[in-house]
Formats: sequence, structure tokens, C-alpha cells
Amino acid sequence: NISTKFSSIMKNLSGKGKITEKNIRDAVEDIKMSLLDADVNLRVVRKFINSTLEEALGEKVLLSVDPGQQFTKIVYDKMVALLGDESGQELKLKGKDTTSVILMMGLQGSGKTTTAHKLALKLTKEGRKVMLVAADLVRPAAITQLQVLGEKVGVRVFTIPGEKNPVKVATEAVKTARHELYDTVIIDTSGRMHLDDTLMKEIQDIAKAVNPDETLFVADAMTGQNAVTIAKEFEEKVGISGVILSKFDSDTRGGAALSLKSVVGKPIKFIGTGEKSEDLEAFHPDRIASRILGMGDVVSLVEKAQQAFDKDEAERLAKKMQKNTFDLQDYLDQLENMNKMGSVDKLIEMIPGAKGNISEEDINLKEVEVEKAIIKSMTKFERANYRIIGPSRRKRIAKGSGTSVADVNRLLKKFEKSKLMMKKLLGNKKLQASMLSKM
Ligand code: GDP
Ligand code: MG
Repeated sequence: NISTKFSSIMKNLSGKGKITEKNIRDAVEDIKMSLLDADVNLRVVRKFINSTLEEALGEKVLLSVDPGQQFTKIVYDKMVALLGDESGQELKLKGKDTTSVILMMGLQGSGKTTTAHKLALKLTKEGRKVMLVAADLVRPAAITQLQVLGEKVGVRVFTIPGEKNPVKVATEAVKTARHELYDTVIIDTSGRMHLDDTLMKEIQDIAKAVNPDETLFVADAMTGQNAVTIAKEFEEKVGISGVILSKFDSDTRGGAALSLKSVVGKPIKFIGTGEKSEDLEAFHPDRIASRILGMGDVVSLVEKAQQAFDKDEAERLAKKMQKNTFDLQDYLDQLENMNKMGSVDKLIEMIPGAKGNISEEDINLKEVEVEKAIIKSMTKFERANYRIIGPSRRKRIAKGSGTSVADVNRLLKKFEKSKLMMKKLLGNKKLQASMLSKM
């Protein structure tokens, strides 16, 4: 697997007080091999390697205090650049007072139909009125598949029973959408097993007829380099405005993501991370890069924490928040929950740059421990009624927990602030719903 390989390459380099030009050349050679193994496009690998070498061999690295770390940073930056920055990721749709058209394209089985309905759900949640269009008239079950998925997410699916011409279906759909004030039309099209002229001609004709705002190329992340060849063909013949990498959940090679942006020059807008309607995520190059490099990833750290927070508990707390009866005991429970994230050792591993610099004692989740101790020194009644904790109680609690009155003050202030925050959120029904759905 590419990321474990990267970690070992990096481990070899880091910790070396001094590294030589040969060390760097060897490491770069190793990286080259693992990228090629991961099925990354050769041209992309060459570009990546050359620019990394050039920078890494500069004096800045060789003479720096920690050359290993400096080198890792260069490799990381180059990889993020390769994956593309986050600009141009949003869908470029027109306002809701008119109708925008999204055209899905790609090979058969790449995930067009699934992605179309995921996108429909996402845009519906953003307040758009979406229509799905069944313009795959090649696969016998394609229309039914889209109908089932559309129903699942509550989105209308436009079909013309018996019609054999996909261009006709697409144009009629857009016409209907305009009349009935749909602001977004997502056209699902047919794919073939391999590229062929009939498929290209069909997509070209549809594109010409409906003039899409977005032409999204759906690529199966598992197909590696092959996806690049196909994307290039679609870009030349039809034009691509963005790429969606499906099946990223099962991608163990990562080659496609690295190559696509670099060769085709189009932003990766989303990644598909599963078969369910919600499994569509924005593409974050920095996250993918650090995952590939095994460099640690603050974002996944946070996500892990959220997962550890077990679901029942979350629901119970959410209910309390709704009624605004969340008290210090609940807060303590929440803190205890953090321990479920695993050993502190594992946590440190996930904080970029922390390994070797921060010891287990250093991090010790100090503040958490202090807060836990403070609440544990409170009586049951105090935990449930934080307002009654006046100066003398504060003094007693500080003494009992081996902390200071300032510590107790800080905790209570923080708690009060979060209660206020919750109260504000409670006034906002929409936000509340979305918060609860994330928990
Ligand atoms: P199409 O022929 O391009 O329309 O592809 P489909 O949308 O029918 O998808 C082909 C298969 O891939 C189906 O079994 C989907 O459930 C599956 N699939 C699509 N996207 C994803 C994804 O992001 N993750 C996973 N695990 N499976 C996916
Ligand atoms: Mg399909």
C-alpha cells in the first residue's frame, strides 16, 4: 500500500541530523517506484520527481536543522500541488431563478447513475429544486435504477417511456424543467464498456442540445491510469468542467487522483465514498496528500473523535441540548468520552509534526484532565445547577481537585459560553436539524 511505503521512506530520512545528496536521491528514487506501483501516470511521476529533486537538493534542505522534516514538507507540498488546490471545486451553477444543467458522463459502471442521485440529494439539501433525467437508454434497467434512486432521495426522475433517442429525452427534460421552475437538471447518460465513437457522438449531441453548465466526468478511482486516458478523450471531444472520483472508499492505489488533475487539468470536485445517497464528499487535496504520505492529518483526528463519541450518547446529549438541560455532569461525560479515541500515543501520531517533538506527558490532554478533576470535585447538585457555584464553593472545588480558583472560573465561564451558544443555535431550527444529522 502506497501510504505505508511512503511512511517508511520518510522514516528513513527523518531523524537523520544530516542528510547527503545521495540520501535524498535514494529517497526520491523510492518515491518514484511507489508512485509507479500505484499506477500513477508516468509523465506525472516524472514531473513530480524532477521538481521535488530540484527543490530538495537546494541548500535550504541540506543545511537546515532538520533536513528530513524539510524534505517531507517539500514532498507534501508537491503532492498537494499535484492534486490541485481547492479552487474551482464548487459547481458553477446559475442562480435559482433560472435552470442550470449538469451533464454526467463516463464509462459504463463508473458510477454515473449513483453519483447523479447523490448530487441530487446534495443540491436539494442546499435548497435547489432538482430534476433527474434518465437519458441512459442503452442499458435495459438503467431507467428503473435511476427511478429507484430518485425516489429514495425524493427527487423527480424525468423519463419518456418508449423513446429511443437520448437527445430528445434530454431536450424535453430541460424544456419541462424550465416550465415547471426546476432550477437544476441532472442528466444521467449511458456509458460503454470502452470508449467508442457512438458513445462520444451521443454525448456530444446531448451536450450541444442542452448546453450544460457543468459537464462532470465520473471516473472510477480504482481504474488508475486508465481513467486518465478516458478523461482526456472526453475532454477533447466534449469538454469536462470537473471530475468526480467514485469508489474512493475502495481505492487502495490512489493513482487516479494523483494523475487526473495533473494530466487533464480539471478540478476534482467530489469523491464518492460509498454506495449510499450521502456518500459524496468535497475533495480535499491536502487531506488526500497527507493520507498518502502517512503524515498525519488533523482533520481525520477530529473525525475519529466524532466517531468515538458513540451514537446513543450523542443522541441523548442532543436531546438534552434541545431542551437546554445540558449540565456539568453531561459535560464530564463528554470529556470521558474522549478517552475512547484510543491511546494518547495514537493521537500524537496524527498531529502533524508532533511525533518526536511532543511526548505523551506533554500532551496528556492537560486541560481535559484539569476540567475532569474540577467537575469530579463538585457535588451532584452543583453539577446539575452550575449557577449556584459562588466564590466559596469555587474555593472548595479548587482545593478538592488540586487546581486553582482561576481554573474553576475558566471552566465555568467556558461552560456558560457553550450553553449560550446552544441557546442561540436552538433558535435556528434549520441549523439545529443539520447539527443533529451530523451527530
Ligand atoms: P454507471 O454505469 O456509470 O451509471 O454506474 P453505477 O452508478 O450504476 O455504479 C456502478 C456500481 O458502482 C454500482 O454497484 C454502485 O453501487 C457502485 N458505486 C458507485 N459509486 C460508488 C462509490 O462511491 N463507492 C462504492 N463503494 N461503490 C460505488
Ligand atoms: Mg448508469
